[in-house]
Amino acid sequence: MKTIGLLGGMSWESTVLYYQLLNEGVRERLGGLHSAKILMHSVDFAEIEQFQVNGQWQEAGKKLAAAALGLEQSGADMVLICTNLMHKVAPIIEAQIQVPLLHIADAAGSAIKAQGLKTVGLLGTRYTMEEDFYRQRLLDKFNLEVIIPEPEERKYVHQVIFEELCQGKLTDEARENYLTIIDKLRAKGAEGVILGCTEIPLLIRQDDTNLPLFNTAALHAQYALEFSFAE
Ligand code: GLU
Repeated sequence: MKTIGLLGGMSWESTVLYYQLLNEGVRERLGGLHSAKILMHSVDFAEIEQFQVNGQWQEAGKKLAAAALGLEQSGADMVLICTNLMHKVAPIIEAQIQVPLLHIADAAGSAIKAQGLKTVGLLGTRYTMEEDFYRQRLLDKFNLEVIIPEPEERKYVHQVIFEELCQGKLTDEARENYLTIIDKLRAKGAEGVILGCTEIPLLIRQDDTNLPLFNTAALHAQYALEFSFAE
């Protein structure tokens, strides 16, 4: 079993999911008292969010790259960025480390492909929904067509992530509004929806809709476990 390095805290509400899922996955595989070998560098999310708002992506990338290098030097065999959005700076991080950076969009893309879907909706921060770093990878590597919500809906989804989900607030109102947006994505042709922000699975669960949902936190953790146990 390899050692999993986590860049966490973005936000910690979802990093908790990674910790739990990785340990549950090891228990399923090895049983008994076995648990995951994890190293984590958990940041102060307020600092990272300031970089985002100021457009200081290089600075954010450098900070996370230094943290990733620390994980590698402490013995991590792989690094995971426990957020979809901060994969925007994945190339900066990858340039600093020798061990693989397991990309969250690859975890999502392979799960979607495995189900034979071709067109998916995407919910996440506005950067993840609107920019190329995520969608283009899904297109290039997995030939997936990605549909995003309308501008007003994107604004709402983004706002709920930062003002509610990342602060531990889960409301019925947000859940209903998100489900309405998911239904609209279905009407536009989505055969499934990527929960492309690691906090959204705290609010929306597969039981809430019959459209296939792709929980990126869970898929990313599963991807790390597969790598961890690969020969
Ligand atoms: N956790 C979120 C994501 O998966 C957003 C928080 C952030 O990284 O800014 O994109």
